[in-house]
Amino acid sequence: MERLAIDGGTPVFGEKKVRDFFPSWPIPYPETEQKLIDIFRSGKWGGCAAYEQLLMTEFAKYQGSRYSVWMCNGTTTLECALLALGIGRGDEVIVPGITWLATAEVALYIGATPVIVDVEPETMCMDPAAFEAAITPRTKAVIPVHIYSGLANMPAIMRIAQRHNLAVIEDCAHAHGARQKGKGVGSYGKIGSFSFQLSKLMTAGEGGCCTTDDEELFDRLFRLSHIGSSQLHPGTKPDPSLLCRQYRFTDFQAAIIYDQLQHQPENFARRKANLARMAELIKDVPGIKLQESAYADDERASYFFTLLLKLEELHDGIDRDQVRKALAAEGFDNLFYGWAAPLYKSPLWNISEDQYIKHETPNCETLMYQRVMTCGHALLLGSQEGIEKCAQAIRKVMSAYAG
Ligand SMILES: *Cc1c(COP(=O)(O)O)cnc(C)c1O
Repeated sequence: MERLAIDGGTPVFGEKKVRDFFPSWPIPYPETEQKLIDIFRSGKWGGCAAYEQLLMTEFAKYQGSRYSVWMCNGTTTLECALLALGIGRGDEVIVPGITWLATAEVALYIGATPVIVDVEPETMCMDPAAFEAAITPRTKAVIPVHIYSGLANMPAIMRIAQRHNLAVIEDCAHAHGARQKGKGVGSYGKIGSFSFQLSKLMTAGEGGCCTTDDEELFDRLFRLSHIGSSQLHPGTKPDPSLLCRQYRFTDFQAAIIYDQLQHQPENFARRKANLARMAELIKDVPGIKLQESAYADDERASYFFTLLLKLEELHDGIDRDQVRKALAAEGFDNLFYGWAAPLYKSPLWNISEDQYIKHETPNCETLMYQRVMTCGHALLLGSQEGIEKCAQAIRKVMSAYAG
């Protein structure tokens, strides 16, 4: 067996590091510069201007939905999605225990109660059985999250939601362009929510949008985020039940995203090909695997490139810290532990226990504290050589530490 770099052997990456094999993120497309200057000189900086209008139809079409409504970030989109569906005080909203704070906190913003359920051990996404077991007469909505590089099991979640008459909002903050069974994510539920924050797969620094097929929901979402005004029925008053917010987007952001959307098919294809290549190269390596998606043929977007340890195959005394250090010594030194904690243990989670309901979540804890290793999606935009070196480092380290 080859001596590991951590024990004085030669590193797989030689003098280089993994960062030498992928682009920095975000990618500044040169054609965007002139668009930003033109917008700047035109004075049409906001107010649902030209690029936002284009995005409203083109991004919706890309995701397989009829409409999209653009907002200032992917937290306000979730909040408006709940409001548009009439969710409010006294209602319960079911969310997975592994997600960003926003997915649960938006329920609190509107006076509802987040109900946290467990995830599946290999996809890291909401466990449909745990979702069903958490339903009460107060439950009104569920927010499955397509997390990191996995997609939630939408057919199963939709069946349960329909049986119990619950609204489904898909949190697609990690899944621009992803498809399950040929259908774009965000188009299974009543509303899809996307984020364009700096780390995401498409970004304008900040930004968000909701997708929907329903004309009435489109109008409600637009009014809710545009202080009551309507694109469909200009000059008319909002429904009295809607307390509308001002969460508008700017055309500078829209122009940046518009150009990224033109590059998105090639970027998506590259990430997909690199992920498939990695899966092939490490499929027989002991002690480790790629995060799974609900279905083997899911077209995953991969926000984080995510590895999961198979704890039962690790040699005695080997844990995640040791594996990460050994991989770093080989040159694969950008792995981290995702969000490092389940939602309800996040360092920013300051919600008192009487404000939310938490069910048993053993998979969330094992995943976040012992199994997950991730890095940003730019790795998957890199060269095939980089992917092959990462796979070689994984094989070398895990052959010594597991099996
Ligand atoms: C980033 C993110 C959001 C919120 O997006 P912002 O644009 O940062 O408000 C929501 N859900 C998930 C899962 C996210 O990762």
